[in-house]
Amino acid sequence: MLNTYLAASTAPSVEQPTQLQPYGLPTYVTASDAIADFRGDDQIYVLYPRKIERAARTFVSGFPGEVMYAVKANPHPSLLKILWDEGVRDFDVASIREIELVRDLLPAAKLFLMHPIKSRATIARAYELGVRDFSFDHADEVQKILDSTEDATDLSLHLRLALPKGDAVMPLSGKFGADYDTAVSLLISARAVAAKLGICFHVGSQCLAINNYDRAIAFARRVVDAAGVKVDSIDVGGGFPVAYPEMPIPPMSDYFDAIGQSVKAHGFDAIAVYGEPGRALCAEGGSTLTRVELRKGSDLYLNDGTYGSLFDAGQFGWKFPVKLLRNRPPAPCANTIGFRFFGPTCDSSDTMIGPFHLPADTCEGDWIEVGHLGAYGQALATQFNGFHSQHTVILLDD
Ligand SMILES: *Cc1c(COP(=O)(O)O)cnc(C)c1O
Repeated sequence: MLNTYLAASTAPSVEQPTQLQPYGLPTYVTASDAIADFRGDDQIYVLYPRKIERAARTFVSGFPGEVMYAVKANPHPSLLKILWDEGVRDFDVASIREIELVRDLLPAAKLFLMHPIKSRATIARAYELGVRDFSFDHADEVQKILDSTEDATDLSLHLRLALPKGDAVMPLSGKFGADYDTAVSLLISARAVAAKLGICFHVGSQCLAINNYDRAIAFARRVVDAAGVKVDSIDVGGGFPVAYPEMPIPPMSDYFDAIGQSVKAHGFDAIAVYGEPGRALCAEGGSTLTRVELRKGSDLYLNDGTYGSLFDAGQFGWKFPVKLLRNRPPAPCANTIGFRFFGPTCDSSDTMIGPFHLPADTCEGDWIEVGHLGAYGQALATQFNGFHSQHTVILLDD
């Protein structure tokens, strides 16, 4: 099941130029087709439209509020277009480049600048490009927003709360967010200058404990009550998890139900509700095809690594699904062993302990598809040591 073998005689099914149009990228049916047709030397990044569409539909039809895509998870233009086509209209952006990217590609998209700390130039340019929604976690940031928009009177300001520690795999409250007392006074002062006032938080990425959302919403209720002001929206952030190997997750509908119930129980159901999924919208919709350059025992030296799309495999020891692709005989053997991966750079931190289970005869020249890298995989790749890839393909497989 882990390995797919395709006979060398199988002709690659390259889609013709008309079919290339919808995505603007080379389009194939399977990963083996893409490899058979590949003339370059670098790793290949993959997008799977069918999987992205499915994730988008799950959120657009199931999330109890507006779905705002967190662009940083994967800003690839083809992916942004697929999300738009599936009904995602709101985009969480953090930088001027993300703003310009989405604005150019999807002129009718609504952009939310949800980074709590922005340069004055970024705020001014964002406002010029139609952004009205800005997050903040400090009084000085509110002043910066007012200064940089010439005291605009049509601002939607979203107060970012720091949350008491939860159980997310990757906490996101260590850096941003106002604590209870600060949040109460900021809500009062921001109410006076904001056309609309919202409250937002992030429970941490890959949040495996559903009740963290309820705890955060309850905390937001206490802050709003203590401030005694009207709020116009609540944004429950990202954190929706993905089923990586050895990390089972509850069904997404359990998250949606819990959030819907909590919003209601805490009296936020009459105002706008937003969610900001990043990972859950695109992780399964992307993968990396990487080639084995050398094998030493159970160590595989690959042409992608922690400075490429595999940062989380190195830094956090995450396991990603792997599949051997060998477009030539002999067929890979049936028994598997656990391998360690090493990336192509000369840095010894370019190590991924795995173990990644692959056929025992995996060898130089084989390709490995590493899955679930559509979020925080391709988006994190650097050009360190001259190793990087410009090659992204579309696979129509689902
Ligand atoms: C990164 C980020 C997200 C997306 O988080 P996921 O865990 O990938 O869903 C959403 N909102 C903000 C403010 C973020 O920084």
